[in-house]
Amino acid sequence: MIPRFKILFLIVGLIFGVHCRSARVGQAETLMGTLVEITAEGRDHKLVEARVALAFEEVRRVDRLISTFREDSELSRINRAAGVAPVQVSPEVLEAIERSLEVSRLSDGAFDISYAALGGLWDFSGEKPARVPEAAEIAARLKRVGWRRIQVDRSAGTVFLPEAGMRLDLGAIAKGYAVDRALAALKVPGVDRALVTAGGDLRAFTRPGEKPWRIGIQDPARRDRLLGELEIQNQAVATSGQYERFVEIQGRRYGHILDPRTGRPAEGVLGATVIAGEAWEADAWATALLVLGPEQGIKLLPSPPGIEALIVDAKGRWHATPGLAGRIQPAPSPSVPFLFRL
Ligand code: ADP
Ligand code: MG
Repeated sequence: MIPRFKILFLIVGLIFGVHCRSARVGQAETLMGTLVEITAEGRDHKLVEARVALAFEEVRRVDRLISTFREDSELSRINRAAGVAPVQVSPEVLEAIERSLEVSRLSDGAFDISYAALGGLWDFSGEKPARVPEAAEIAARLKRVGWRRIQVDRSAGTVFLPEAGMRLDLGAIAKGYAVDRALAALKVPGVDRALVTAGGDLRAFTRPGEKPWRIGIQDPARRDRLLGELEIQNQAVATSGQYERFVEIQGRRYGHILDPRTGRPAEGVLGATVIAGEAWEADAWATALLVLGPEQGIKLLPSPPGIEALIVDAKGRWHATPGLAGRIQPAPSPSVPFLFRL
């Protein structure tokens, strides 16, 4: 015979279990040229699943609006109309461009979505034989680069590039922006924890009392190794690295982040990780830091505590804002659920 207290225990256990068990939904899909992973937890499995589906839809929607790989995106329309006419765009595209301009201003032009006028000179696709462009070619293209020349008319809802040959590319902010939109779809009653990652960008959501997310930062100098682990609750983290996409010309590597002031690939930083409240901001600054370098970069970064950074320079040395240095835990465990690539 089963003792009565054991039965009671069983019933209490069952009620407790059903009541507290949290459904976890995790899905991955290749979007925006990278792996997008979305994980969410909550009591009601159906609700969580529906929200995860909606979050993926948000990523697709943002991609359709701002990808320059798509002929039909609003951004491509702005580029086609360069030197011709202002283009009416949706409020979100306007917002993404305005935020980019704000980072341009703060970063002294290191971050500049009009860098794209240099497009094609440096070929990182591997489709054409790689070559270092002539100085004169770079100089000619640089005449069309300049964030101050981008004309945004907020009341008319238009964007205008005043000279033919000017071009915008939101590649350095698009994934972060999409991660923010996806997370907004998950931040609803019934979802207790969520994590959205897209390549090197991620954002977490954790209701008070819930477990934080533990993420790993890949070492930019040794990619088989973690640089450390980090716990986050309601923040975004983004990383940029010059060696994720690069071309090798005569034994020298040229990374895909260009210095808009010289028209040449930025040098001196291997990788940068930025923590911020929102993913678009972390994403933009991670790119800016690659151009600015450690000293200038940390100086220009909007003041902590809101935003923190870790920069690994070309010699493998770390430069971190004070608030971040203490948060990175060494001794990486193999069980880290999410690695993001520098
Ligand atoms: P990834 O897209 O590889 O994760 P980033 O977020 O750092 O990395 O974005 C890099 C992309 O940003 C480049 O591929 C290019 O499209 C764009 N870009 C390159 N240089 C700049 C720059 N100085 N300012 C703004 N965008 C840039
Ligand atoms: Mg970026």
